[in-house]
Amino acid sequence: MIFFGKKKEKKPHKEIDIKKEIKKAEKEESLWIKCSSCQELLYIKEVERNQHICLKCEYHFPISVENRIKLTFDEGSFNELFGSIGPVDFLKFKDTKSYKARLEETQEQVKRPDAVVCGHGKINGIDVLTAIFDFSFMGGSLGSVVGEKITRTLEAGAEKRLPVIIFCASGGARMQEGIMSLMQMSKVSGAIYRLKSTKMPYISVLTDPTLGGVTASMGMLGDIIIAEPKAMIGFAGPRVIKETIKEELPQGFQRAEYLLEHGMIDMIVSRKELKRQLSTLLKLILS
Ligand SMILES: [Zn+2]
Repeated sequence: MIFFGKKKEKKPHKEIDIKKEIKKAEKEESLWIKCSSCQELLYIKEVERNQHICLKCEYHFPISVENRIKLTFDEGSFNELFGSIGPVDFLKFKDTKSYKARLEETQEQVKRPDAVVCGHGKINGIDVLTAIFDFSFMGGSLGSVVGEKITRTLEAGAEKRLPVIIFCASGGARMQEGIMSLMQMSKVSGAIYRLKSTKMPYISVLTDPTLGGVTASMGMLGDIIIAEPKAMIGFAGPRVIKETIKEELPQGFQRAEYLLEHGMIDMIVSRKELKRQLSTLLKLILS
């Protein structure tokens, strides 16, 4: 009889590499994206294959400037204009961080000097000038560089007698530039007037989101105003309006479909149809 056996050795717990697990989870999570309109969890690759459109509700996710160029302009036809204009921190503005530091950080991240890319390209063979907002650069805010580049594009349109299309995606004016940012609204509006006086068309394409000073100037001044499905378009955000008027806002308030119903925009066009639709409109107007 054995009274005292050899004590069973406990197996050591397998050490969990926390860092590795977090990385793995992050990697898995980055494969999925939540639709901000219908809340559906979507496989990113599938959304990308669908031109960044929600497979369930047709919400159009914001896209990069490069993707916009690829989707809209004939291959190899796009040439950037005024690319060397960069911002200046003339107010020496500082909130939690200085404007200068914020700019440098964003420029490094986004790899461009400011929040708009302007250029010349062809849409199904038709020459157009364009300005495309980059929302990833400080929320596509309208600062003095954005205003200047768009003004020059519109003036080039008037001079060369070319149509201009602006793709808007912006949170509004850039508060770090104070009044200099606000005056861009009237500057751009004046340039739109000069283009229109040459009988050249100006088309605005409003994408999610288009707000504040951008809506209140170039956004709503298009001869034809096009919006992408379910895009939020407005001046102040819905929360501010709700708190100010102390009333419940109607269903779909400030969405493209609501604006179309109330006569604020001319048409809603799917990204898949936009190039064809733009070239049809331009052909009709220019013929
Ligand atoms: Zn959706």
